[in-house]
Amino acid sequence: MTETTDAPWDAAPVARMHEPLAAVLGARSAGPLTKMGLRTVEDLLRHYPRRYGEPGRMTDMTGLVVGEHVTVVAQVVTATVRHMRSRGGAMLQAVVTDGTQRLGLTFFAKRPGSLRVHEDRLRPGRTGLFTGVVSEYRGERQLTHPDYLVVGVDADDEAAALVEAGRPIAIYPSSAAAPTWRIERCVRTVLGPLSPDDVPDPLPLQVREHRALVGLHQALVDVHEPHDDAQWQRGRDRLRYEEAFVLQVALARRRSQVAHLEAVARPLRPALGAGSGGGRASLLADFDVLLPFELTEGQRVVGEEIADELARDRPMQRLLQGEVGSGKTVVALRAMLQVVDAGGQAALLAPTEVLAGQHARTVRALLADLADGGFLGGAEHGTRVALLTGSQSAADRKRNLLDAASGAAGIVVGTHALLGENVQFADLGLVVVDEQHRFGVEQRDALRTKADRVPHLLVMTATPIPRTVAMTVFGDLEVSTLREIPAGRSPITTHVVPASNAAWTARTWARVREEVAAGRGAYVVCPRISATETESDSDASTAAAPILDGEPPRRPLRAVLEVVDELRALPALAGVRIGILHGQMAAAEKESAMAAFTAGDIDLLVSTTVIEVGVDVPRATAMVVLDADRFGISQLHQLRGRVGRGTEPGICLLVTDASPDSPAGARLATVASTTDGFELAAADLEMRSEGDVLGAAQSGRASSLRLLRVVRDADVIADARADAEAIVAEDPELGPWPALRAEIAERLAGDREEFLDRA
Ligand code: ADP
Ligand code: MG
Repeated sequence: MTETTDAPWDAAPVARMHEPLAAVLGARSAGPLTKMGLRTVEDLLRHYPRRYGEPGRMTDMTGLVVGEHVTVVAQVVTATVRHMRSRGGAMLQAVVTDGTQRLGLTFFAKRPGSLRVHEDRLRPGRTGLFTGVVSEYRGERQLTHPDYLVVGVDADDEAAALVEAGRPIAIYPSSAAAPTWRIERCVRTVLGPLSPDDVPDPLPLQVREHRALVGLHQALVDVHEPHDDAQWQRGRDRLRYEEAFVLQVALARRRSQVAHLEAVARPLRPALGAGSGGGRASLLADFDVLLPFELTEGQRVVGEEIADELARDRPMQRLLQGEVGSGKTVVALRAMLQVVDAGGQAALLAPTEVLAGQHARTVRALLADLADGGFLGGAEHGTRVALLTGSQSAADRKRNLLDAASGAAGIVVGTHALLGENVQFADLGLVVVDEQHRFGVEQRDALRTKADRVPHLLVMTATPIPRTVAMTVFGDLEVSTLREIPAGRSPITTHVVPASNAAWTARTWARVREEVAAGRGAYVVCPRISATETESDSDASTAAAPILDGEPPRRPLRAVLEVVDELRALPALAGVRIGILHGQMAAAEKESAMAAFTAGDIDLLVSTTVIEVGVDVPRATAMVVLDADRFGISQLHQLRGRVGRGTEPGICLLVTDASPDSPAGARLATVASTTDGFELAAADLEMRSEGDVLGAAQSGRASSLRLLRVVRDADVIADARADAEAIVAEDPELGPWPALRAEIAERLAGDREEFLDRA
């Protein structure tokens, strides 16, 4: 454990909030809740209603999405039992309405008799709560075997009484086994006997008073059992603030801890003047001479900023964000060389093997003779570049490990394999993390532990991050931005190609052919490796994000191994040399595929998203993305950034089945409309749900952010940040606020890494 991680506080004594639900509700009631991940009283009380049904008002059913589990308040229009001649058996079909929209309800049974009970309860004109998964049948939305409660019929049930009582109806995220009214009843059972003393409040009193917020107990009553809209809003505001505050306190503590750490100063070594004897030459100065281009203004400014920080004895904590292709690698390399010049080592952490390999090659190529340090004929002040990846041979690995540990390698490039316990450095002075969104705080810490004193840290990302997200997710880093793209870069044109249009697809391959005929390279990107394989999470977290928009694919997604055969058989591409690249190939195969493509021995590379981040092959000018609707906006922008990196204009063709007016179609149109990464990042955040942004939804693990929206709640985050600074300044150990301490330890520890991981 380093000084930078949170101290292992003692767990709070087991209190009412920590009691298992099974002990309070009995195993039978608790069972379905446990399946939803709700184990303790606190879990259940932190399971906030998704929304509130208005009493006496029907749910607006316009927004029902196929595939979603929903609960609606609606009125029965018709309900009829009929025999099914074709299949035998019987079915009950009912229709409910919110006044305008209609929703079907369908029940099946062997005999009509078993359906009479439903028919009896679902009398036309009656109102009820209906819950189930929305499906579509013959163009109509329906719920099959929904769970439901009818007002006036199921009157002994409290939830039904609620519908009539004129209070907002709490509608919970629910499951088939635990419909919303059952959750509501459990919450009531659990919350009733609790007093404010049973519910420790992580918000310090002074903060609550300053922001005019209610206590935690009251807030829980407010959101779970509100008498009117104003009440649940009051509770929700307070809980939302709490989320922002707890996170900001954690970040503020981290900043304050890091600020007190000592680092080794790595000042610039002055270049030797021409003709001056003695002294040691500077790798950085030699490198700058070798550099085949002028640095952009931004690269110079940011470079100086970094150089100054490296020269201090406080650890640099910097996030470098820059548009795809803005030239972040050179900035990082120059920082690394400054550290090597000062006698230290630098580690470059990349998210994929492909990228790590590329970085190692780039660094070696740019350093030329300088990268042969210690070898006969190498420059005397040169250094070695070691590469460490998960799948290299034992012999390679051993040699590289040795170079890192002995200090012979001033620069060590690698994937997460660098984080392994057996990786040692002689004097690690700088850690560079490329494409930060793939790495979390824990990984950063793991690398930090490899140095006696805290190394400087430079984190790079091509995903432009709005200020509030930066504040939330990267709250412990200073931010520099590279806004300009090196001059002479050519534009990329993007078109959306409807997959169903044969003429357009033919034109797509003809375009690819033209590029290849002109001696350039092309990528074809598929969402899958084969019918059965997607990219695993290990090689990269570069698996195509499944974005469903409620529209199930009509056919299997396009896969590298199938597409490559199709393209090889395609007359339009006869003679085109086609290679493949995906995460499940052996490291050596990947290396040689990339090398062949870079060298022009392969014209067309059929690949997965392993090429998404950072891959730099200037001769590649065309990209075809198949099933493009399966990818998110930022991901497509990243992918597209692989072409148009040389002097020739790039072209990107997004092939899709999505109709232009579907959400997926809108997303693609947005990508085609601009190449401004900041604009796209903003559009992305608007279109995606928060869960996607912060990564919690996919994992199914509860995120510590339930109510907070990093884009919408910018003001809340800024307020919470100010309050957090004040609290941490008062006492970094949070002595006076045990409940806050416990909250940070408990709620944030588990999912922090993950949620800091995937902004
Ligand atoms: P990214 O910021 O996306 O990581 P890279 O660092 O991979 O971008 O740089 C993209 C390409 O631009 C590389 O081929 C790099 O050599 C080149 N490059 C970087 N800086 C400049 C510059 N100042 N002028 C011209 N080309 C540059
Ligand atoms: Mg890069």
